[in-house]
Amino acid sequence: VAQGEILLDVRGVSKRFGGLTAVDDASLTVRKGSITALIGPNGSGKTTLFNLITGGMAPDSGEIWFEGRRIDTMRPWERGHLGLGRTYQVTRLFKDMTVQQNVVAPLPNSRWRTMFSDSVSGHEAARARELLDIVGLGSFANQPAGALSYGQQKLVELAQVLMLQPKLILLDEPAGGVNPSLLGRLTEVIRELNRSGVTFLVVEHNIPLVLELCDPVVVFSRGASIAEGPPGTIREDPVVLDAYLGD
Ligand code: ADP
Repeated sequence: VAQGEILLDVRGVSKRFGGLTAVDDASLTVRKGSITALIGPNGSGKTTLFNLITGGMAPDSGEIWFEGRRIDTMRPWERGHLGLGRTYQVTRLFKDMTVQQNVVAPLPNSRWRTMFSDSVSGHEAARARELLDIVGLGSFANQPAGALSYGQQKLVELAQVLMLQPKLILLDEPAGGVNPSLLGRLTEVIRELNRSGVTFLVVEHNIPLVLELCDPVVVFSRGASIAEGPPGTIREDPVVLDAYLGD
């Protein structure tokens, strides 16, 4: 896996909820060109860290840098503008809108236009179709999103994120709830996008998938990283096994 310069740099970030420290002086880097995994037991702070990176909440301390800019004080849409995209654990598509309308929905002002008319501009529509072809769903463009399987909806969300031309995509459990027959395509799509220059940070519970797809793998426990390395090393690391089995 190509390991370029540091794209995302999380520096000593903490986040507390009342008396609970969900993210505890955590540091993490994502290098340009990588598919970096973030794994760890339930409750270890992975989702909270995602929210801190994309801007759903602010850290109590620490800094987050993206491409040499400090982003932890920016609004979420500003971070999106810089090239930071994310998907969610549970899909957030408009189920009654068509697949294609959903893909263009995150563009500025397009939500209202797509809701009240079919007038998506020719250029936007063409780009959405292109992206749907990339994720293998071109033939579903005019179906309502709610008619697709859960795994297909996750692929639509990936196309939706790509519409904003992100440099880094945070994937929150991309394989969760996806049936096995779609998993192969999902990993192939991620690989293909990575080859074309998109960097990924992936939270995923399917460990065999992580070990096959990602490098490096960062392991979280109790709010901070306890191990980081290539999948081969992580698989054998007693500290990692202990974190999973000990909790
Ligand atoms: P993970 O994604 O690794 O399962 P989370 O980041 O979801 O972990 O949660 C880390 C800890 O923070 C857990 O103990 C969880 O209960 C707590 N937590 C997460 N979000 C909130 C919140 N909004 N309010 C209070 N506690 C929270």
